[in-house]
Amino acid sequence: TSTRLYRPVCARTYATGAPPHALVFLEHRKGTIESGSLSALTAAQQLGGQVSALVIGSSEHVGGVVEQAKKLKGLTSVLHSTSPQYAEPLPEIVTPLLKKLLSDSSFTHVVSATSSFGKSLLPRVSANLDVPTVSDVTSVEHDASNDSTIFTRPVYAGNAISTVSAPSSIPIKFFTVRGTAFAAAPTEEGSNAEAKAVEPVQVDDCPTEHIKTTIAKSDRPDLSVASRVVSGGRALKDAKTFESTLYPLADVLGAAVGASRAAVDSGYADNSLQVGQTGKVVAPELYMALGISGAIQHLAGMKDSKLIVAVNKDPDAPIFQVADVGLVADLFEVVPQLVEQLKK
Ligand code: FAD
Repeated sequence: TSTRLYRPVCARTYATGAPPHALVFLEHRKGTIESGSLSALTAAQQLGGQVSALVIGSSEHVGGVVEQAKKLKGLTSVLHSTSPQYAEPLPEIVTPLLKKLLSDSSFTHVVSATSSFGKSLLPRVSANLDVPTVSDVTSVEHDASNDSTIFTRPVYAGNAISTVSAPSSIPIKFFTVRGTAFAAAPTEEGSNAEAKAVEPVQVDDCPTEHIKTTIAKSDRPDLSVASRVVSGGRALKDAKTFESTLYPLADVLGAAVGASRAAVDSGYADNSLQVGQTGKVVAPELYMALGISGAIQHLAGMKDSKLIVAVNKDPDAPIFQVADVGLVADLFEVVPQLVEQLKK
């Protein structure tokens, strides 16, 4: 599909051909930059112009994040703003800061990861400026000759790719980035982006309040960034069987554990482990689908994995259509054998 975004309403305009200058919202968790934000940085660099980053947070963490960000490859400057209000930021609290930054600067693009926060922040700010946000992009290309940016983004659970053009009439182009489509921006020896403090904007009448963040604790690799994932489906019978069958395999491979929605809905696995359209999108080096049929909603979250291994006792299971290696077998027989072999 192909779409053109028509919103020629913004007061700000730039000379056609002005080089892009992107502002990337860098998210961090307790002082460590999120990998999705590093992918957003790579996407921003593909616009072919300058790239700045914005870091916000409490005084406890901002300094350390700025030091990490300064060493990232391709960053020109790191803007940072510190306030107790930014310790657990809400989109309502950050919006006035971004709006102020954008009104005083020459940014042409605003970029973030397609994270819960990015999906809430960017559309809020862009709506305030009466321009659209393009979400979950998998490629980006800027044409400086006519100041348009072309994006691709998956639609219909990844069954079609939409090509979207944001023309010059949109002076600031907002987009969120699908992490699995872009490599994380690396650090580079000798990189030393300029750091610049920005005054926070105090918000006194916020209609919402952050109460608490509960993070699922696990000693295993994080599913979103793991290079190997072992996933189980409804076939795993119950929570105990899911754990006793999958975890030894995940342990021997150093893999994260994932699950189909049927496994999550049946209470075998926590919903933070769900892979798919309404779960996490992953693209590891190795994805093992055990007792998962391969419904399109599941494929939407894993079909870009580099090597897909499927074990299913039904030879007609749709998972075999995307699998690189398929084994028609009872997983309760083959998984223990696999673990034994891998241990050797
Ligand atoms: P099933 O479809 O029941 O498949 C179980 C498979 O296990 C079968 O293929 C069977 O042959 C095999 N099997 C059984 N016993 C064994 C054995 N002993 N050894 C080997 N194989 C065995 N699903 C997701 O996963 N993620 C999503 O994000 C998601 N989002 C959705 C969003 C919407 C709006 C909707 C409508 C659905 C969504 N679903 C999602 C659900 C999806 O449609 C499927 O229902 C779900 O993926 C099925 O999970 P499953 O493959 O584990 O179960």
